[in-house]
Amino acid sequence: MSHQPLTSPRVVQEILARHGLRPNKQLGQNFLIDENIVHKIIAAAELGPEDAVLEIGPGLGVLTGPLAERSRQVIAVEVDKGLIPVLEENLASYPNIKIIWGDILKIEPEKLLAGLSSPLKVVANLPYYITSPVIMALLTGPLPLERLVLMVQREVARRLTAAPGSKDYGVLAVAVQYYTRPEIVALVPRTVFFPRPDVDSAVVRLMMRPRPAVAVGDEALFFRLVRGAFGRRRKTLLNSLEGEFGAQYSREELAAFLQAGGIEPSRRGETLTLEEFALLARIITKKEPGNTAAEAQVPSKEAKKG
Ligand code: SAM
Repeated sequence: MSHQPLTSPRVVQEILARHGLRPNKQLGQNFLIDENIVHKIIAAAELGPEDAVLEIGPGLGVLTGPLAERSRQVIAVEVDKGLIPVLEENLASYPNIKIIWGDILKIEPEKLLAGLSSPLKVVANLPYYITSPVIMALLTGPLPLERLVLMVQREVARRLTAAPGSKDYGVLAVAVQYYTRPEIVALVPRTVFFPRPDVDSAVVRLMMRPRPAVAVGDEALFFRLVRGAFGRRRKTLLNSLEGEFGAQYSREELAAFLQAGGIEPSRRGETLTLEEFALLARIITKKEPGNTAAEAQVPSKEAKKG
């Protein structure tokens, strides 16, 4: 198949000019112009002939063609209407690409699921302005995902993979590590994009876990606990919990929950591991009205830690 080299800045500029377009900063349009990084992203997806791929923000199609060559089906969602004819032109030779004009945060999942027979591999050079909302929507949404291979800002990559107690550890790290096994697969300098962004990037791979990393009892409560703990970073855990749960539980009750989990009340919330957040969530879940003991039972392995 003959292709225009979409990794050539001259070709990118020529295509945009021919279609009367300019890179749209608001839409995070920094086009990838490095063949080597394209290969690294494709390799991280480990595609096979039966795979279905969801690409978010195909842009001019620099990743879309190589993805289609190695998979059964690619669904590419692009929000910029002006790029749809560009994609149709650049990808005309691939019968297995479905281009959808839409906003990935608003599109109905049924539209993406139609005709899908295998779990999705998400691949995206993500627009930076919506990285976290897109990741959270995908992880908590209904799509059957196998993995996500994403180009993100270097700083976000650090946050996704951060360990407890580090400055990058936060709600995003806990949520991502709860649902997936994240790893940084490549560090990417800003020089491989046109136009050049102000920050460096990284390719991350998030492998979906068959089940969440920890048993939490009530998931909504677990995430409330996590948000509460990080929302008041400078406070002790007990004070943070009082801020979040004070209307429901007295300070003494909250201290008792921590004690039951063997967690020192003077610790900062951001030092808690996923296991500790989960243990605490299960302890509080058990006390919530309407929850049966069976649902909230603390598995013996975790109970021993307390
Ligand atoms: N994949 C191309 C590449 O690697 O060169 C383009 C990547 S560029 C960083 C991000 C792309 O996402 C742009 O094409 C932009 O128009 C698109 N985009 C921005 N917001 C979007 C949204 N909410 N839904 C779908 N696509 C979006």
